[in-house]
Amino acid sequence: MSEHYIPQDLPTRIQHYIDGEFVDSVNGATFDVLDPVSNTNYATAAAGQKEDIDLAVAAATRAFTDGPWPRMKPRERARILNKIADAVEAAEARLAELESFDSGLPITQARGQALRAAENFRFFADLIVAQFDDAMKVPGSQINYVNRKPIGVAGLITPWNTPFMLESWKLAPSIASGCTVVLKPAEFTPLSASLWAGIFEEAGLPKGVFNLVNGLGEEAGDALVKHPDVPLISFTGETTTGQTIFRNAATNLKGLSMELGGKSPCVIFADADLDAAIDSALFGVFSLNGERCTAGSRILVERSIYDEFCEKYAARAKNIVVGDPHDPATEVGALVHPEHYNKVMSYVDIGKSEGRLLAGGGRPEGLDHGNYVAPTVFADVKPDARIFQEEIFGPVVAITPFDTDEEALELANGVKYGLAAYIWTQNLTRAHNFAQSVEAGMVWLNSHNVRDLRTPFGGVKASGLGHEGGFRSIDFYTDQQAVHITL
Ligand code: NAD
Repeated sequence: MSEHYIPQDLPTRIQHYIDGEFVDSVNGATFDVLDPVSNTNYATAAAGQKEDIDLAVAAATRAFTDGPWPRMKPRERARILNKIADAVEAAEARLAELESFDSGLPITQARGQALRAAENFRFFADLIVAQFDDAMKVPGSQINYVNRKPIGVAGLITPWNTPFMLESWKLAPSIASGCTVVLKPAEFTPLSASLWAGIFEEAGLPKGVFNLVNGLGEEAGDALVKHPDVPLISFTGETTTGQTIFRNAATNLKGLSMELGGKSPCVIFADADLDAAIDSALFGVFSLNGERCTAGSRILVERSIYDEFCEKYAARAKNIVVGDPHDPATEVGALVHPEHYNKVMSYVDIGKSEGRLLAGGGRPEGLDHGNYVAPTVFADVKPDARIFQEEIFGPVVAITPFDTDEEALELANGVKYGLAAYIWTQNLTRAHNFAQSVEAGMVWLNSHNVRDLRTPFGGVKASGLGHEGGFRSIDFYTDQQAVHITL
């Protein structure tokens, strides 16, 4: 194994960014930040409390009410968004290095995520310029038109998996729409979020449009959700947290967008291109350390190819390179935090009594420290097993055989989640019929999880509420007022 890499000029103190200034918490509270390879504290971060959220919301409210941003022409906003994208691209190597260090993501994958973050800004820059709204005429009596307006201060709450990219997924459309924002990033991975401040300043985003409050979900996140001057919350995270936020947002009847957990099926029929399906099913659950909301963490395989699939899949899983996140050869890095590592390992233990272990099953050989889990494959997993039903969010996959299309569909739909589904078959009629019946917000047919940014993103059932993506994101961050004129 290579030496653990520590980036140069690593900050030891991570602050909030409120009204254009880096600041500590009013009461001085902090929390420790670990790196997932050494599991030692490398920094302390400001732990936001209600009074810090109040200051951030006040700054964002001033920038919304009195500042230029919501009133700028879309083209002027787009110019700044494109400069942000340029700055993210220019900083991509540094961003990826910090993200990989803080979150344990393999460096090659972290670089891809940084570029995707830049693309989010470019995409929404284009979209707001192309945006047009409806006008409806009733001949001789009335004209109606839509007056689109940014809603106000958007509360953005994000998780620790691919943190910088997921922040961009909320920041780009909210800011593009003319909202001002308060971002509360995940407490496990606060490092890369603090880079936004410099990027936004350099691009010329007016003061107070972007505000960042670090801290724990139950403190800073909770205060943001309950703040009366924040009319909407965009949240990505666990389903149970989403339920808590839903309850807490009820008092002020906030707009909510919820991107929650998943346990997505990858369904492989006997007529599939097996090599392509195996490649994709490996990528689906072992890329991003398996810490991916859309992970294909249940593989359903038609019985006639089941044994062959299991054998080939397990052989490939055993060859996946686990190692220091900074090493370009690494394919699975370190899980984000010891708490999460313990959770994933507990599922590995549960799996040993629920399935037949084909690969992995614990810590990889030679990696005695750090949150490393060997890519783990269980076969013959029954649908009532916990490793079939519950989101593990790590490099652990359950394989289950099926005999008929109907059984495959029943298995695919037999969990509380409904985020993504992956279908592999050469029979296009079956593929489309399956896509239409499967309970998933997003379906990939004979393809990897690659998203066109114009398409809807979101889940059904316990995987979420509402869809973002393309114009849907702009719809979420704007009010569409109807104006009626009698002729
Ligand atoms: P989490 O729910 O623990 O935390 C997410 C964020 O919510 C963090 O910033 C946290 O501080 C905050 N939070 C926690 N409690 C809060 C509260 N009471 N009020 C307000 N904020 C609170 O999730 P996580 O462990 O960081 O992320 C992993 C989860 O996110 C997985 O379930 C994964 O599937 C899901 N996820 C979903 C998508 C999607 O698009 N559907 C994408 C990525 C991750």
